This record gives sequence, structure tokens and C-alpha cells, in this order.
Amino acid sequence: MGKLDGRVVIVTGAARGQGEQEARLFREEGAEVVVADVLDDQGQDLAKEIGALYVHLDVRREDDWRRVVASATDAYGRIDGLVNNAGILRFNTLLDTPVDEFMQIVEVNQVGCFLGIKTVAPAMPDGGTIVNTASYTGMTGMAAVGAYAATKHAILGLTRVAALELAARKIRVNAMCPGAIDTAMSNPAQLDPAADAEEASRGLDRFYRKVVPLGRIGKPEEVARLALFLTSDDSSYITGQPFVIDGGWLAGVSIV
Ligand code: NAD
Repeated sequence: MGKLDGRVVIVTGAARGQGEQEARLFREEGAEVVVADVLDDQGQDLAKEIGALYVHLDVRREDDWRRVVASATDAYGRIDGLVNNAGILRFNTLLDTPVDEFMQIVEVNQVGCFLGIKTVAPAMPDGGTIVNTASYTGMTGMAAVGAYAATKHAILGLTRVAALELAARKIRVNAMCPGAIDTAMSNPAQLDPAADAEEASRGLDRFYRKVVPLGRIGKPEEVARLALFLTSDDSSYITGQPFVIDGGWLAGVSIV
């Protein structure tokens, strides 16, 4: 018995990184999975490999969302879960951030999450689940990622309000707040065929050892297991909450 037997789940930004691991784990746990992304080739390859449905989705576009809902319903007859995972990161101090860059991040991370809730929840039966991917930077500040942190704080607000508004239909809405996770977002060497991504991972471990109590960067598979918990009945009495998964980074500072 899989934890998601009989359920149909849409994962956005699922062509790579955390979304990819969520799609893989959800399939292993018996769900039908809709892999949605702007990276069509990678998304299609993954969907073929794991037996999922790929649908092109730019999370900023409401028409794309409507197409994803229609395709998922056509293919599987229902939609029980959504993981709003797609996101982008840009590094800049607030004073140096052009308005266009700020708005680009808002559109993908914040508007994308809003549109996912708005278009998918009406298509869900009672008892569905929505998991929004916020961040460690949704809980605290981090210099040089101000626009990103603002959107991740906003996702927690969206999560709480959606949980209140959808509770009457027993749709649960929670958020994940990952710390540093070893994907292309934190480890761009993964996107460079000439680079040694494993050596870059070891470098990230050395860096995060200084600030993360558990002494290493996180793995996308670890976040996928939290997404599974929040999408399955194991979390049946939990809604409207942020879940930090950061190796203890947010616990405080150590002076010993
Ligand atoms: P990633 O860059 O590997 O994956 C992001 C995915 O989102 C990609 O597949 C990308 O194509 C997709 N995407 C980007 N813009 C899109 C759009 N407009 N429409 C649809 N898809 C789009 O990075 P990741 O770490 O797997 O990121 C997943 C989520 O986790 C993001 O929301 C990110 O902000 C969040 N997060 C990441 C970290 C980290 O350290 N990696 C930490 C905290 C939170």
C-alpha cells in the first residue's frame, strides 16, 4: 500500500530539483502525478521515466493553469493534491534591485502560488491537499535576497488564509520552509556540464557546516519526504502551518 494510492497530484516546477524528487516519491507512493514546468524537454523525459503526465505550465499564466487542470482531469478524472514548488531566486541588495527584477520574482513565486490555489482548489474534491513551497527566508531575513524573501513571507500569508478559507471543504493547506537544499538553485554547477557538481556539493557542505547545526546542505529527497507527509493522511489534522526543514539553521546561533 502506498501512502498516496488513488490520489492525483500536480507538482509545479517538477522538471528538476525538489519538484522532481517530489514527483518521483509520489509515484512510488502510488499517486498519479502531473509534472508541470516551463522546462519541457526535461519535464517530458521525467514524466516518461516515472509514468506521469507532463503539462507545460508557466505558473504566472492563468490560462496555463486552466490547461493543467483540464489535462489532469481528462487524464485521471480528478485532482487531489497540488504542490506549488516552482520558484526563482535572484541575488541583489534591496537598494540595487530593479523594479522589473522584483516584479519578476513576485510573479513567479507569489502570483504563481496564488494562481495555483485559485485554479486548482475549485477542481478538488473535499479532502484535498495543497503544499506551498516557501523557504527559510519566509521565516527570517537574509541579506541579498530581499525580493525573494518578501515573496516567501507572502507565501506563508497565502497558506494561512487559504487554510482558513478552504477548511470547510476539508482541503488542507500547509507550507514548507526549506533551508539550503542541494539543487540547481543553490548549486548552479548542476547546470554546467563542464563543472564538477559533486565537488561543488562538497564545497557547499563545508560552507554550511559553519552555520547549519546538522553540518551540511539538505537534499531534495529530504524535502520530498516532508511534501509526502503534508500530502498524505499522515498529516490529517494539520493545516495552515509552516514546516521548517533546514538542519537546525533557524534554531539560533551557537557560541560554543
Ligand atoms: P530549481 O531551480 O532546481 O527548481 C525550480 C523549478 O521551478 C525548475 O524546474 C524551474 O524550471 C521551475 N520554474 C521556474 N520558473 C517557473 C515558471 N514560471 N513556471 C513553472 N515552473 C517554473 O530549484 P529548487 O531548489 O528545486 O526549487 C524548488 C522550490 O524550493 C522553489 O520554490 C525554491 O524557491 C524553493 N527553495 C529552494 C531552496 C534551495 O536552497 N534550493 C531553499 C528554500 C526554498
